[in-house]
Amino acid sequence: IPVDEFDLVIFGGTGDLARRKILPGLFRRFISNQMPTGSRIIGAARSDMDTEGYRQMVREAIAEFGGEESKDLKCLERFVAQLHYIQVDAKGTAGWDELHALIRFEVINAFYFSVAPSLFGDLAERLHNYKIADDDSRVVVEKPFGRDLETAKELNAILAEHFGESQIYRIDHYLGKETVQNLMAVRFGNMLFEPLWNNHYVDHIQITVAETVGVGGRGTYYDKSGAMRDMVQNHLMQLLCLIAMESPSVFDADAVRDEKLKVIRALQPIDPHHIVRGQYDATKTEPSYREDAENPRSHTESFVALRCEIANWRWAGVPFYLRTGKKLKARSSEIIVVFKDIGHSIFPGDEKRHRNILSIQLQPNEGMQLQVTIKEPGPGGMRLIDVPLDMTFAEALGPDAEDSTDAYERLIMDVIRGNQTLFMRGDEVEAAWAWTDPLIEGWQARGDVPKLYEQGSSGPEDALMLMHREGRRWHEIK
Ligand code: NAD
Repeated sequence: IPVDEFDLVIFGGTGDLARRKILPGLFRRFISNQMPTGSRIIGAARSDMDTEGYRQMVREAIAEFGGEESKDLKCLERFVAQLHYIQVDAKGTAGWDELHALIRFEVINAFYFSVAPSLFGDLAERLHNYKIADDDSRVVVEKPFGRDLETAKELNAILAEHFGESQIYRIDHYLGKETVQNLMAVRFGNMLFEPLWNNHYVDHIQITVAETVGVGGRGTYYDKSGAMRDMVQNHLMQLLCLIAMESPSVFDADAVRDEKLKVIRALQPIDPHHIVRGQYDATKTEPSYREDAENPRSHTESFVALRCEIANWRWAGVPFYLRTGKKLKARSSEIIVVFKDIGHSIFPGDEKRHRNILSIQLQPNEGMQLQVTIKEPGPGGMRLIDVPLDMTFAEALGPDAEDSTDAYERLIMDVIRGNQTLFMRGDEVEAAWAWTDPLIEGWQARGDVPKLYEQGSSGPEDALMLMHREGRRWHEIK
């Protein structure tokens, strides 16, 4: 669906995120005819360059990060012709009058804050004082949204001084993934799943976000945050909310976000025995986490696994196991819904546990499978086997199933459409911090030291034990 004409200003338009994700994403939307003629993208950053220099930078960024589409050079030239650049100082006066003169007030205006959060206040204030933003403008802010409840509240307050909540788009790119939205379609568009989606039929749910990369060059920055702040508080909790929330009465931004907020508020405090933290160890050739972080005494976790429960009628007694970490076996993000065993088997000799398992993959490929039990084909009698039923329906949907829309481009287009459904509301972010803060404070007070784990493994042994001791197993990371 095409969007209306817009001017999108990217503060930090020369930065890493803009070059790797935002601009290549916008180019793909341009190729798909979703960027109306006349719309403009205005890079605004501290770097000293002019519009021609910026266009060249974007050509190079798209060649590097844009994938196959970037080879369409004619299209690329038409795209860069819609780019502009203004040198601005978020903390000073340079560039703001020029930006005011360039912006067209008769089209949709969006301002993407792809800069350090310490600049959000300066940008919001100047957009207001220089009368660049008005009540219809939208602002997009990146993670991290604070490092605890207090700082998140401060950021919310800074933005609220100049913008209403309906103008603020807090990005969590996990929510832009096709499968995440498909999860809602599967849950709330079918009779088949929702009746079973509760503690009578679900044994437990697992959410894994595994990475193969280490903290690399970001080590010293990462060491101040850790896996809980960097991944669990935002991405994993958002996934948890979508999998666990009640059905909203209508698919609109506030109805969905109200239901997500209820899930976060119903999360029980966690027993410290139900949290395992880890740090990757050195190999013969690769440095350890502590070496990467340049902090030989670091107690920051590059891995965390935890078991939590949601105290409401639907989920009472159902454990949710979350884990995420760096330098693990494979890059893989998935949600696994494990249904309970059938109560009684009528098939003599069939001693295997048969369980329906719904697997939802978000990374590296998106997809959904339902494990079902059927008869093994052939004359061997009534032998049962478990097979995956592919629910991505690539064959049925044809080329449309191969939608390569990246999360960022989908979310940016939602900003232009004014659809906040896939963005986090301020109270959601605060509630998530209110749940994670005591956990972090708890291990800091106990002086908890993360367990070492082997690079290329599934994390520390204790994380496996978290499930084993309850007679359950993590789905293999692959
Ligand atoms: P970066 O350091 O590569 O780029 C920073 C940008 O901000 C540059 O364009 C710079 O010119 C501009 N800038 C800095 N000070 C300025 C000032 N005073 N006035 C105007 N412009 C100024 O950073 P990045 O990696 O692109 O990250 C941007 C934001 O996105 C950060 O908040 C980061 O946490 C977040 N983020 C980044 C990634 C990523 O993959 N890079 C992922 C998620 C979130």
